[in-house]
Amino acid sequence: MTKFMKNPLLSLIVASSLVFNMACGEDKETPQSCDGVAYEYEGEIGPDHWGEICLDSDCNGNVQSPINITGAVDDATLADIPQTYVATATHIVNKGHTIQFNFDAGSSILVNGEKFDLLQFHTHTHSEHTVNGVHTPLEMHFVHKNATTGKLAVIGVFVEEGAANATLEGLADHLPATINATYDTTATFSALDFMPSDKSYFTYSGSLTTPPCSEIVTWIVMEHHIEADVHQIEHFEHLEHENARPVQGLDGRTIRHHKG
Ligand SMILES: [Zn+2]
Repeated sequence: MTKFMKNPLLSLIVASSLVFNMACGEDKETPQSCDGVAYEYEGEIGPDHWGEICLDSDCNGNVQSPINITGAVDDATLADIPQTYVATATHIVNKGHTIQFNFDAGSSILVNGEKFDLLQFHTHTHSEHTVNGVHTPLEMHFVHKNATTGKLAVIGVFVEEGAANATLEGLADHLPATINATYDTTATFSALDFMPSDKSYFTYSGSLTTPPCSEIVTWIVMEHHIEADVHQIEHFEHLEHENARPVQGLDGRTIRHHKG
C-alpha cells in the first residue's frame, strides 16, 4: 500500500475502487490485503482457495453465503420490509466479474427498525442462492449499507426466463463490455421496479459472496421470482460468464420465512 501513496492520483483511484468493491470484492492484485484481491470462479484462485488468497479473508468461516434455502421456519414476528425507493439515474459499471448498477443517494430500507441505504445492485449468472437445490438463470443483489455500523442488508431477487423485463429494456443493450467501462443511464428507475409484488421472503445471517466474504450481511431473499426474456439474460451471461459461488454449509443457522 505504501508505494501507492507516492502517487496521489493512484491512491485516489485505489480508494475509490475500495468503496465500489465492498459488496462483492473484485479483481486487482494485492497479495497481503483482501482489498481488491484477484479471484476467479475456478482453478488456483477459485472458490476452494478464497480462504487463503488474502490475510483477512472470512471465506472459510461458518456464517457464509450463498446457501441452499430449505427447511425455512415460518416466523410470524417478521413483517414486510419497508422500502423507500426513489427513481434515480444509475451508473452502470463493468466490474470484471459482474455488472453493477450504482444508484444515486436517497433510497433506503428498514430492517428491524434499522436504516440501510441502497448503494447498488449487481447480478450473478446463474443464481447464487438455490431453493431446494434449484437455481434460476440470474440473481440480482440489492446492496444496502447502515451508514453508522457499516453492516449490510442485501436483498436477493431471483430472475427466471419468461417475458421481457420492461425495466431492463433499453438497459441490456448498454451494459459496458470492457472492465471498468461505464454507462450512465438517461432513464431513471427505482429498485422497486425489480421487486416481486409478493413481499414474502427468506432471511438469514450470512456474508459477502466474494472475497473477503465478510460476515456482515443480513440476507433477505425474495421468495417470488421476477422475469426477463432469454435475450436479456444472455446479455448478462455473455459479459459475466459464470460468477456464482457454490452454496455454503448452514452450520447451525436458522432460515426464517415471512409470508407477505
Ligand atoms: Zn452479489
